[in-house]
Amino acid sequence: VTTDWDLIVVGAGPAGSAAAIAALTERPGARVLLLDRAPLGRDKVCGDGIAPHTVAALEALGVRAVEPPEVVPTVRLSAPGGGSSSAATGDPGYVVPRAQFDERLARAAIERGAVFEERRVASVAQDAEGVSVDGRDRAPALIAADGANSVVRRAIGQGHNSKRALAVAVRGYAPTPAGMPRELEIRWDSRRSGGLCYAWSFPTAEGTSNVGYGMSSAALTNGRAELEQRMRLLLAEFDFDGVALSGHTLPLSIDRPKPAVGRVLLTGDAASLINPLTGEGIYSAVASGIMAGRAAATDAAGAGARYGRELAAAFGRQHRQLKLVYPLVDSRAVLDAVIRACNADRGTFDRLLDVGLGESAFRMRDMATLAKFLARRGLAVN
Ligand SMILES: Cc1cc2nc3c(=O)[nH]c(=O)nc-3n(C[C@H](O)[C@H](O)[C@H](O)COP(=O)(O)OP(=O)(O)OC[C@H]3O[C@@H](n4cnc5c(N)ncnc54)[C@H](O)[C@@H]3O)c2cc1C
Repeated sequence: VTTDWDLIVVGAGPAGSAAAIAALTERPGARVLLLDRAPLGRDKVCGDGIAPHTVAALEALGVRAVEPPEVVPTVRLSAPGGGSSSAATGDPGYVVPRAQFDERLARAAIERGAVFEERRVASVAQDAEGVSVDGRDRAPALIAADGANSVVRRAIGQGHNSKRALAVAVRGYAPTPAGMPRELEIRWDSRRSGGLCYAWSFPTAEGTSNVGYGMSSAALTNGRAELEQRMRLLLAEFDFDGVALSGHTLPLSIDRPKPAVGRVLLTGDAASLINPLTGEGIYSAVASGIMAGRAAATDAAGAGARYGRELAAAFGRQHRQLKLVYPLVDSRAVLDAVIRACNADRGTFDRLLDVGLGESAFRMRDMATLAKFLARRGLAVN
């Protein structure tokens, strides 16, 4: 027996829940099935940093997914050469353990009318009229939001990212050292790894900090031990005794699958939308989920084409640009120059965060500023 739905969403992380909420906002009363292999409230290996862009996108849908004590209004970037730059962001960021953040979003989707079912999806098949899941459920469109190791992505014939376009990271919760300022801190590493390479400490509302270290998979030679060793080195003031660390991969946006094949739309990590400069993936998950949910609820047959156009309009310029810029984040000289530029010009700091956390791209003027500070490096004091 097959159950018919208006829309099936696989995965109840930020991308999937946002897709269900957007679909039900567009078409109240639609029959939306939201499937996840884990129960509500599952943990997710993440830095837990929620960008202001994410908060705004969810608020536009009438969903408040953060609480006042979780606010962290300042961002600090620390360069390998020792320089650092910090500033309060225009709208603040938040740190919300993903077990809570994702549950809040999934519950908002259920409140809007989505039917949640705990189930691991094994097979997806589509024909000209619709998509079937495990031979049990069927809908005119399906949204894949099943994360970095997406089963749906494989089922529609799209391969996974190359090692160069994957990052890998570990994280745990350590007590926040006394007197440490309440900041979202990123400490770039000095070693060359062909791309993303930094430690972070993001304070939760409960006296702990989410601490971790991430780098390009292609450069990892000694597995988890290497990540943990660099993390301890860069976050020397933290006490890691008894801190349980877990790891996961990040599919970076420098290598992406087609956003849609037929009536299946890929969103979030399943679509490799993680920002390669920062590892931010929650905003792009929510933003892509919203676009896909709206498109699927409006016209299932045309949803893939519309979603592809809207995703390209929002992120296309950033995706093309960061693919070119990505190798530069491997250069210590560039990272040091970025910090000097941020300290000299608040506009540069704001622009960097907007590109790193949202859907903006750099302008020519930003590149010229960076070139100026790179050229001046011989004269710099720090
Ligand atoms: C260590 C680390 C730190 C990070 N830090 C940050 C950060 O601070 N800020 C930030 O913005 N981003 C961060 N990211 C990236 C962020 O975690 C992801 O980009 C984000 O979770 C993507 O959301 P999603 O909804 O696409 O996928 P996910 O959140 O992974 O959700 C996918 C869901 O699909 C379910 N699922 C999977 N397979 C199946 C199946 N076969 N059947 C049914 N359900 C299935 C899973 O149970 C899961 O609930 C970090 C990533 C890592 C690894």
